[in-house]
Amino acid sequence: MSGIDDLPIRDELRGKSPYGAPQLDVAVRLNTNENPYPLPEALVARIAERVAEAARHLNRYPDRDAVELRTGLADYLSRTTGHRVATEGVWAANGSNEVLQQLLQAFGGPGRTALGFDPSYSMHALIARGTGTGWLSGPRQSDFTIDVHTAEQVIAEHRPDVVFVCSPNNPTGTAVDADTVLALYDAAQRARGGAGALVVVDEAYGEFSHRPSLLPLIEGRRNLVVSRTMSKAFGAAGLRLGYLAADPAVVDAVQLVRLPYHLSAVTQATALAALEHTDTLLGYVEQLKAERDRLVTELRALGCEVTESDANFVQFGRFDGADGAHAVWQALLEHGVLVRDNGVPGHLRVSVGTPAENDAFLDAVRAVTKENKP
Ligand SMILES: *Cc1c(COP(=O)(O)O)cnc(C)c1O
Repeated sequence: MSGIDDLPIRDELRGKSPYGAPQLDVAVRLNTNENPYPLPEALVARIAERVAEAARHLNRYPDRDAVELRTGLADYLSRTTGHRVATEGVWAANGSNEVLQQLLQAFGGPGRTALGFDPSYSMHALIARGTGTGWLSGPRQSDFTIDVHTAEQVIAEHRPDVVFVCSPNNPTGTAVDADTVLALYDAAQRARGGAGALVVVDEAYGEFSHRPSLLPLIEGRRNLVVSRTMSKAFGAAGLRLGYLAADPAVVDAVQLVRLPYHLSAVTQATALAALEHTDTLLGYVEQLKAERDRLVTELRALGCEVTESDANFVQFGRFDGADGAHAVWQALLEHGVLVRDNGVPGHLRVSVGTPAENDAFLDAVRAVTKENKP
């Protein structure tokens, strides 16, 4: 038998598995934080038009700098965060995962270290590994918030080159307040001295938060980056479009590592069409936020311990340890509902679906908790 490990593969990749949630053929799939609403027909038609126009020029390479798209994204951010962002301060790539990878290619790499606060988005650590960047796992408190004092100590001791702050945090749903981000930013600059350290705020779920975006904090902070995506709020996970806002110097730095023409003309055209329909898409976000708040309330009424959520998913428990959570995961699956076991002891994560999907999920929880009562 031969496998990956018989190949002359990098040592740090030996014995590892690729990232990915198990996809099962189940009636109600609430495991990957996708937006449950398909794009509206008017937008589908507009995408077809814009892609047809782009197809007329596919013999040519796309706009390498994606200027029209970056301008559209800058306008969207300026309008929704109240902070004026310029085209030069925005960069786009194939999903925010690629944005994060480019950031680590430029600011991490061999001999350098990135820090995150776990449990958090496991791709941060995996992208670090893929780019040869060392990884440090910082702690969260039992309520899944970041304790500023402890975090400052970890930063002072380990002097990371890159710090990830995920807000709202996946998989817990926890938002990080601006004061905490500022304290971590200052600690990271102090610890490294010189040019300082890059602080990346992953706002993949920013649009779902009860709180304003952290984006205005980039003002006057050259090493602060906010990353966003069209995968969640824009209901376009299949599009693969992520972006960042930062000082224009960060965008210049990322251009040193991006592949030429990394963003296809078809992708750029589709994303531009989606931006034309921002208001409709943000209307769905409002519905999802209301459903998210309903899930929190109803799960609590069923006796679950629920983590405060600012995202389009809800972390709930508390089940007896890792095994207990997995048993409940399995039981919900048997009731036709797929949720996510992220390995957070005693907890599971459910993505917010349509009202009917959420009802099916709540019915399944009701049935499962009744079965487990003595
Ligand atoms: C879903 C998610 C992303 C999005 O990744 P894309 O590559 O844009 O689809 C980024 N960060 C976090 C924390 C996420 O949960």
